[in-house]
Amino acid sequence: MPSHRLDNLAVTIEKDGASRFAKASYPIRFGKYSEISTPDYEFQFNLTGDIKFIRGLHAKWRHPSELLKRTDGNDWVFYSLGSVGQKIVTWLGEYYLPCLPYPSNSFWEHNPFTDPDIMTAFGAWSQLYANLCGMRRDGLPGEVKEFLDLVSQNDETALHEKAKRLRSIMGGRPSVLPPDTRHVDYEVIPLMVADGCLYHCDFCCVKSPQPFTPRTRDDIAGQLSRLKDFYGRNLINYKGLFLGNHDALAAGRDLLSMAAGQAIEALRMDAPEIFLFGSVDSLLRAEGELFDYLSRVSSFSYINIGLESVDAATLAAINKPLRVAKVKEAFQKMLELNRAYDNLAVTANFLLGEDLSPGHYQSLAELLGGVPDHLAGKGAVYLSPMMASRNRLALLDNFYEIKKASRLPAYVYLIQRL
Ligand code: SF4
Repeated sequence: MPSHRLDNLAVTIEKDGASRFAKASYPIRFGKYSEISTPDYEFQFNLTGDIKFIRGLHAKWRHPSELLKRTDGNDWVFYSLGSVGQKIVTWLGEYYLPCLPYPSNSFWEHNPFTDPDIMTAFGAWSQLYANLCGMRRDGLPGEVKEFLDLVSQNDETALHEKAKRLRSIMGGRPSVLPPDTRHVDYEVIPLMVADGCLYHCDFCCVKSPQPFTPRTRDDIAGQLSRLKDFYGRNLINYKGLFLGNHDALAAGRDLLSMAAGQAIEALRMDAPEIFLFGSVDSLLRAEGELFDYLSRVSSFSYINIGLESVDAATLAAINKPLRVAKVKEAFQKMLELNRAYDNLAVTANFLLGEDLSPGHYQSLAELLGGVPDHLAGKGAVYLSPMMASRNRLALLDNFYEIKKASRLPAYVYLIQRL
């Protein structure tokens, strides 16, 4: 892909990145993107000219592999390699620690947005944007001109408006993405199939107030037609489909199959990775035909279930209206499904919290340690620090104890929104 020199800028249009998401401790760009490099920074753009990544190239940048990423919800997330001694890959299964610009449940207290070097990077982006807008286009090759025009249309206000438009298509902003979306770097196309959830537990900081309500078929078709228009050429850069919201599995086989099938057709997603949340009741109720369908149409499907605890006192304390026996039954079904399908994984969430009883940790260690050999290793469990915890770092000891006992891979659940 030829690079064009414009003063001190190197502009490369529509580079081919990796064809699959990969996990590495250095930046691997996925899909098709364009790039502008200055002597000090690298700026990358998607196919609709939106800024996506900023990386420092100068000596004062914290580390050449660290970078800033802009999400479709218009959040800037700093991808940090962490500090010496932090075992990020052990915590998250990923090499990067996403530092979020909004309150979340992370173990670490690191706000990169007060870091002068990062503020300087944002300043450099503003300056570059102003320079591009003022740059004479005479004599530039047609594709460079088109690209610069596209970037110039996407100032801060335009990007804010785009994120607003996406929220209006969905009918709100998903407050959390399934933890498994980390496998596609949280880059998913969201299609809402239902709102609300079944339990409205006390501890939960991501729930929506309404009762569980499936969307109508017309609503889903309307979202798809608007999503197609919204993503435009950039659709080819998405391999993940998120069927939202907090308990899409409860929408049932017919609606879910219809939504997934129509999305694949309308958005031309060839065997996407499909992600959704479920609950104990929706998992226990779900019929085999749904899993067969997901396994047939996706390259891989992930269903993430909030189990929280197998300790009766803890379930009562967090006001989760479930009996331990039922939670265990859902856990067994999860293991069976993980054994039955090669390209489908059910994963589960459990809580970490300083006020949770020793019985919670003991029963959880027993449950995860008792997974039979032939079921071990497939799927994963995510341990979610409660938002209300006063000292989340102290919960790392609990995390490591559970991880050590578990025969399933165990990671920290970081609440990330779209
Ligand atoms: S944990 Fe799940 S079921 Fe409970 S309130 Fe939150 S979203 Fe609803």
